[in-house]
Order: sequence, then C-alpha cells, then structure tokens
Amino acid sequence: LLRVRGLQKSFGSNRVLESVDLTVGRGRVLALIGPSGSGKTTILRCLNGLELPDGGTIDVAVASASDRGPGGSAAGRGERSAAPLTIDFAAKTSPKELASLRDRSAMVFQHYNLFPHKTVLQNVIEGPVIVQRRPAAEVTAEALALLDRVGLTDKRDSYPFELSGGQQQRVGIVRALALRPQVLLFDEPTSALDPELVGDVLRLIKELADEGWTMVIVTHELEFAREVAHEIAFVDGGTIVEHGDPRQLLRNPQHERTRQFLHRLL
Ligand code: ATP
Repeated sequence: LLRVRGLQKSFGSNRVLESVDLTVGRGRVLALIGPSGSGKTTILRCLNGLELPDGGTIDVAVASASDRGPGGSAAGRGERSAAPLTIDFAAKTSPKELASLRDRSAMVFQHYNLFPHKTVLQNVIEGPVIVQRRPAAEVTAEALALLDRVGLTDKRDSYPFELSGGQQQRVGIVRALALRPQVLLFDEPTSALDPELVGDVLRLIKELADEGWTMVIVTHELEFAREVAHEIAFVDGGTIVEHGDPRQLLRNPQHERTRQFLHRLL
C-alpha cells in the first residue's frame, strides 16, 4: 500500500534522512524504533506531507484484493477510494500532489496537537468538513460514533484543557480516523502520557491494528511493538539499518548498531 524509496531530507546542512526505503502492505503495521535524533519523526512528517523531502519517491497505491489485511474491506474501515499516487521528490512537486499525499494519511502526534480553543467534537470534524469538504451532518454522525467507541461521548463539548492526557490522545486518534486515511501514522503516541494512562491508548491502537488499519508507528515501547507490529525497522543515522520480524529483530539483531541500541533499552 505504501512504498518509499530513497527518501532524503536535509535541514540546512544537517542531512537528517540519508536514504530511507520502506514498504508497508495493506493492513500491516510497521514500527519504527531507533535513537533520539535518528530521523523517525522526520520520516513520518515526510509521509504526511508536513515536510517536503529533497529526493526519493513515495507511492500510495490502491491495493489488490490479495494485499488486504485481516480487517477486511476498505469500505469497512470507512476509507474513501482514491487512485494510486506516486510522487518523485527529485522532480518539482505540485501542490495538488502534496495535498493528495496529505489526504491519504493521518498523523497522531506525541503532544496530541488538538486545537485548544475548539471543543472535542469541533476538533474531530474540522479536517473532514473544512479540508475534505464532506457534508457536516455525515461527518458529525461519524465523529459521534467514533467518540462513543473510545468512551468520550460525554466529553464532546469539553475543551482539550479539561481532559486528561489519555483522553486527549484518544481524541487525537479519533480525529485521525475521522479523516478516513489509507495509512495511520503515530509519532510516539504514548510518550507524553503518565504511565497509568499509557495502557488505554496502546489498547486502542492494538484494536485498530486488529481491525486491519495500515499503520506506521514510531515508538519506544518495544513490548508494544513486538505485540502489535508485523515488522520493525531500526532507524539510525537517517537510514533503515535493518528491518524484519519483531520477535526475530528484538531477540537476534543482525547489526551491531541495533544490538547496541537494544542493549541500552533492555
Ligand atoms: P526523537 O526520538 O528524539 O523524537 P527522531 O528520531 O524522531 O528523534 P527527528 O525528530 O526526525 O528524530 O529529528 C532528526 C534530526 O532532524 C534532529 O537532528 C533534529 O534536530 C532535526 N530536525 C528535525 N526537524 C527539524 C526542523 N524542522 N528544522 C531543523 N532541524 C530539524
């Protein structure tokens, strides 16, 4: 569903992404792990069109039936249909291409990034109504169903500051789902949460994985990655140093850099 080849990104003279290759099949979950500053967040931001890569290609394709994950049909997850998209960042990128890339994925941020002056419900419907121009009544009904699912119906008219971190992050996830993206991107979704609030958010992400959402998750929670991800990629120095089956990679890493990283964490 998602294929990235040779992705490069520099900030001034700081070359943050050397050359990133990754592939995520429909309904599959990829976890990105790696040291601070290795480029994990930048990869997600490039996938979401929040950063403009300097080179490389991103493909978001409509999958064939055999490529589907355990979650069943795209319609079941509320995805809007879209033609395959390929962007070559070495060439000049049009605003239309970037808008289309943005439209296919949705990001869940470490610090939730909710609009502070909007209510929970307004936060959720803003993107689908204003950016995607979908009918407000339809979007609102969907948003209320999603809020109900995560146990936040009674918070629909609250403001973010009135919610706990765990509740805010559940709103962040609902807001991403309401965009009906093809790919969900999570940037350390639990690292700002108090320990006792982490479990609820991880459980929700696991449920979404079990439903067949396609996801890329940057995380420091190795246990969670082992349990939820179909594949783990270890990022260091702006490249994917190694990737593979979670159990195998965590138990028996092939590269010295991965070994050192895991050794420090475990
Ligand atoms: P962490 O685990 O700490 O979140 P990370 O692996 O996600 O780290 P990135 O946030 O992608 O790493 O940052 C990689 C490098 O890019 C860092 O050196 C950072 O300072 C730099 N960087 C990221 N965003 C910008 C920006 N907008 N402008 C300048 N430099 C940036």
